[in-house]
Order: sequence, then C-alpha cells, then structure tokens
Amino acid sequence: MSPHGRQKRCRDRLSLGTLEALTRREVPLTCVLVPRERRAGEHRVAATPETVKRLIARGCALIVESGAGLAAGFADGDYRDAGATLLDPRAADAQARWRDADVILSVQGASLAEAEPGLNQLRPGALLIGLLEPHANTALLEALQRQRLSALALELLPRISRAQTMDVLSSQANVAGYKAVLLAAAALDRYVPMLMTAAGTIQPARALILGAGVAGLQALATARRLGAVVVVSDVRPAAKEQVESLGGRFLEPPQLEQNPTEQGGYAQQASEAFLAAQRQQLAEQLAQSDMVICTAQVPGRPAPRLIDDAMLAGMRPGAVVVDLAVAQGGNCEGTRPGETVLRHGVQLIGAEALPSSVAHHASALYARNLAALLEHLLGAGTDGSPLALDLEDPIVSGCLFSHAADAAAPAAGATTGASPERQPVGGAA
Ligand code: NAD
Repeated sequence: MSPHGRQKRCRDRLSLGTLEALTRREVPLTCVLVPRERRAGEHRVAATPETVKRLIARGCALIVESGAGLAAGFADGDYRDAGATLLDPRAADAQARWRDADVILSVQGASLAEAEPGLNQLRPGALLIGLLEPHANTALLEALQRQRLSALALELLPRISRAQTMDVLSSQANVAGYKAVLLAAAALDRYVPMLMTAAGTIQPARALILGAGVAGLQALATARRLGAVVVVSDVRPAAKEQVESLGGRFLEPPQLEQNPTEQGGYAQQASEAFLAAQRQQLAEQLAQSDMVICTAQVPGRPAPRLIDDAMLAGMRPGAVVVDLAVAQGGNCEGTRPGETVLRHGVQLIGAEALPSSVAHHASALYARNLAALLEHLLGAGTDGSPLALDLEDPIVSGCLFSHAADAAAPAAGATTGASPERQPVGGAA
C-alpha cells in the first residue's frame, strides 16, 4: 500500500476527537504507535496524554495500546480524551494496525523484537524509536534489518545543546540519582538530618557520592534536601563548581602525572595507577560515610572500580552503598544487579531500573524527550509535513541504529555509511 493509502486508512480509523483536533487539514498524517511495554518490570510508557495532544497538534495520528500507561498512572481514558485511538493488542485487526504505523515510540524498544504483535508486524520503512541497547544488541539489529526498519537508539543521541530537550539519558539519570538517595535513606539504620530533640542531638548522616554527572548531581541535591553532609568525588575539574553550588564538598582527584582526560564533557578511562591512588583517597572518606551513592561511569567502558572489599571492611556496619553503575560492572566490588547483598555489615544495593520505579514522572520526562525528537524530525513547519530522516542532521546520524534504505547499517552509533540524503520514513526499502 502506498504511504498515502496507509495514511488515509490511519485517518479513517481515528476517533472523532482526533479528527476535530486535526482541524480538517488535508495533509498526510504520520501514524504513531505507542505499544504497551513488554519487558517485565518496565513500568514506564513512551507517550503521555500531554505528549499525545502535542503530537496530534503537529499533525500526527496517535494509536496507543490499551493499558500502555496504566503502570505509570495514565489511564486509557486519559489517552482517549487527549485524542489517541486505543488499540486492543488481542483484537482481530491488531496486526493490521501495527502495519499502519510510520513511527513506534517505545521505552525498551529491543523487547519488541520477540513480541507479538511486534517488529514482525511492521511494514518496511517504519521507524522504531527507543532505548535499544545499541552497544550489545546484535539480535535486535538483525530483526530490524530483516524487516527493513529504521531505528533511532536514544542512548546514542548526541549530548549537544540543541538536543537537550530530547536527552533521555539525562532525564532518566536525574530520576535515578534522586531515587538512589531515597533507597539509601530507607535502608539506613539512622536519621539523615541533624535533629535536636529532648533526648539529645542527632548528628546528620554523611553521604559520599562517586561521580558528579547528571545522576550524581541530583543525588547530591536530594541528599542535601534530606539534611545530609555530602562529599563528592569526580575526575573532571569542571565538576567542582557544580558540586559546590549545590552545597557539597568536592574531593579533588589525586594528582598523578597522568590523570584521566576529558572529552566532550565525559571522563575518559583512568589508568590502573590513578584508580589505585583514588581508592586510597576514598578509603578514608568511606570509613566516615553512612551512605555511598555510586554513579561514576566512562561511556562505552566498564565502570571504574572505586571500592574494593578491603575498603568495605573499613566501613561502619549498618552503612549503605547504592551502586547505580552496577549494569556496567559496578563502582563497588560485590554489588549484583537487582539484589541487596550484605558484606562486612554494609548493605550493597545493586540499583537497577530505578527510573521505572518512579514511573509516572520518569515517563512524563521521557515522553517529552520523545515528543521533542519527533517534532524535530517532523520539521519546523506546523503543516503536518511528512516525517523524514535527514542523515546530515547530527541528531539523526548520531543515534541512527538501523536505516531502512541501507540494511547493512552498523551498530553502536556509527553512521550507516549511506550517502547523506533526506529519506522519507514512509517510502524506504
Ligand atoms: P556519565 O554517566 O558518563 O558519568 C558520570 C560521572 O562519572 C561523570 O561526571 C564522570 O566524570 C564521572 N567519573 C568517571 N570516572 C570517574 C572516577 N574514576 N571517579 C569519579 N568520577 C568518575 O556522565 P553523565 O551524567 O551522562 O554526564 C557527563 C557530562 O555530560 C557532564 O559534564 C554533564 O554535565 C554533561 N552533559 C551534557 C549535556 C548537554 O550538553 N546536552 C547533557 C547531559 C550531560
């Protein structure tokens, strides 16, 4: 079916409210499908009623699988009121509706490779947007190429100023940093704030935060709001000012001949000699800390190991370590993804999927990031211009994971190697 025929069928199926919202413009619609998340434990959703309205105003038709927002506190009725058409995944025409989609907005997009309905139902040239685990997901890439689908992996979105509104890594790391402190405070055997009571004074808890990126700075702000005294370690000199402006004490990195360099705002991998000196410096801090929030990471590398077993043995029994870097190997020896382990009397919390545990606001921010990206792809006009992938646009080329016009697109953020061109999503393959 031609893109025009498909868009007409998509328009024919829209609710009356959606059609009214489109103000009867005779323009081709971009059909956007929002599936229910398939991965167990994932409570977020890729569009909210707010972003549904926003995208409809830009000339999109929104189809939302029923129940998609429930775990994040968004009811089917809210999506319907916002102008979306609800889709029952068990309905007889569900597969046909998947075939109508030009764009699929997802959180854990990779899980759609095995789902039914899922990627198999999409037509060639459709565009999948979501967290696609691009550094390790060859199975997904194969599925995308088999189906001749385009895909944008949000993990690879360039961290440039004009893409800030689309930056899901930042919005979700912010949620994770906040929740990590709450987890630590709840697990701690003591108060966090300083208290003066009739029974005497309680001293404030002491927090150590490793890494002052997005998650670390939010952890610092949250711990300060709870009343903790906070020390922060980072290897980037620029972090000092940010830490101090939030009321934390910055721990200067050890000065060696070869300190880790910085590129594009990110720390580069540190040498083993530097990490050994850093561990020595941190051991003294750890012995005084009640809670430790580990967020130190180096993009594309295993997380730096900053706490070893001997350092844990030097900590106070009852202290808590929350390791947000656990999926990348962890900053702390002994943390395990999704588990809490007791070692030398210290609770080690391997914090996984924290944004999903704050599903409502994590979804609200994630959905706004995706709406901003989609609006960017739709172009600057408000006339419902058809969606296009401009391969010369650094935002697109930066996170292009698969391109339907070039089934041999490589993974991990490399560009497709295709000659730059403006490629309509509906007309590829
Ligand atoms: P990240 O998750 O890759 O790393 C977290 C932090 O760990 C970083 O601050 C890093 O310096 C630190 N780290 C690495 N090795 C360490 C070690 N051995 N000891 C202590 N700390 C260590 O980083 P992120 O949170 O994604 O952000 C990193 C940078 O990118 C920050 O400067 C942030 O302000 C910047 N940023 C820019 C934009 C933008 O311009 N659009 C958006 C988001 C973030």
